[in-house]
Amino acid sequence: MRPFELRRAASVDDAVLLGAASPTAQQGATVRYLAGGTTLLDLMKLDIEHPAHVVQIAHLGLDRIDGAPDGGLSIGATVRNSDLAHDERVRKGYTVLSEALLSGASGQLRNMATTAGNLLQRTRCVYFRDPHMVCNKRAPGSGCDAMEGYHRNLALLGTSEHCIATNPSDMNVALVVLDARVHVTGLHGKREIAIANFHLLPRDTPHIETALVAGDLVTHVTLPPLPDGTRSGYLKLRDRASYEFALASCAIVLRVADGKVEQIRIGLGGVATRPWRAVAAEHLLAGQPLTLANVEAAAAAALAGAQPRPGNAFKVELARRCIVQAIRNVAGEDLQ
Ligand SMILES: Cc1cc2nc3c(=O)[nH]c(=O)nc-3n(C[C@H](O)[C@H](O)[C@H](O)COP(=O)(O)OP(=O)(O)OC[C@H]3O[C@@H](n4cnc5c(N)ncnc54)[C@H](O)[C@@H]3O)c2cc1C
Ligand code: SF4
Repeated sequence: MRPFELRRAASVDDAVLLGAASPTAQQGATVRYLAGGTTLLDLMKLDIEHPAHVVQIAHLGLDRIDGAPDGGLSIGATVRNSDLAHDERVRKGYTVLSEALLSGASGQLRNMATTAGNLLQRTRCVYFRDPHMVCNKRAPGSGCDAMEGYHRNLALLGTSEHCIATNPSDMNVALVVLDARVHVTGLHGKREIAIANFHLLPRDTPHIETALVAGDLVTHVTLPPLPDGTRSGYLKLRDRASYEFALASCAIVLRVADGKVEQIRIGLGGVATRPWRAVAAEHLLAGQPLTLANVEAAAAAALAGAQPRPGNAFKVELARRCIVQAIRNVAGEDLQ
């Protein structure tokens, strides 16, 4: 690990000022905020991230989960994943988020990992994490060794000719179906970013992963309330039962009335370059009877744009089945 200076921010505004000394908030940032450290320190040891300054933020009082005025929830940036997953309001009102968090990593990691850290965790593409490999995300314009390499954990959806790495977070998949909003304090004040606009597609700039600019500190995430009668759940398919990233995962928010789908939101993980909303599938099901045939047609539509490579072609069928089973799990007897 290269030498770095550890700084303790005196306040949120101080953290922002310290962070703004970096030319970018993306790959190559010279200042990084330290939350749980479970991603950042790994990447520093691997020499993938080499900030000159690391800024402590855990003591800034951003560790509260509060009810929001609109009946939703406000989740502080440094709330631990374990605390969030076990919060009664989350378990009952936002089951999909609780299940997604509990499917991730291990108990020890969840006790360290935070909301903002999980939101901003980097890809697990093995070529990104190996400085001896060529990677456009690490070094813009250098090439991508993954294209002709090992694809098993790489993406089918939202890819570009420059990068096919997945966003590895389980929590993020739940946040996209909950229409979360990310609240940021930056050099020019406070702003909020819809989760759908927070993570960027790789296009020809895969090193620019989020809408953040230098100095931006995520302070909290808000979740709008879900209408009465809404159910939700998360299904994750992986090589082993614990301590493993998703090969395919699916987050569902569902409301059924008189046998018809009043509302459905479908999120996919493990198969896309950013937490993925399967919008075409949602449109196919909205207002329709919740039958297995309709669900299977929607799942097929969700994967219609998939661009598989030899090593991950199996994930097209895996993700399709994951959607069908996730909806079955949440719908229960409402599935006709
Ligand atoms: C062995 C292993 C297995 C794992 N398995 C899974 C899994 O199955 N599913 C899954 O989803 N995750 C998994 N993870 C990833 C884990 O969830 C993340 O490492 C964790 O959520 C990151 O949170 P953190 O608080 O430790 O972030 P840190 O490592 O502290 O920070 C991560 C990044 O976020 C930035 N950051 C942190 N807070 C802020 C803020 N408030 N504002 C702006 N920037 C900020 C940091 O500067 C850094 O760039 C695994 C990790 C390991 C090591
Ligand atoms: S897929 Fe993306 S992260 Fe992986 S090597 Fe290629 S450019 Fe880098």
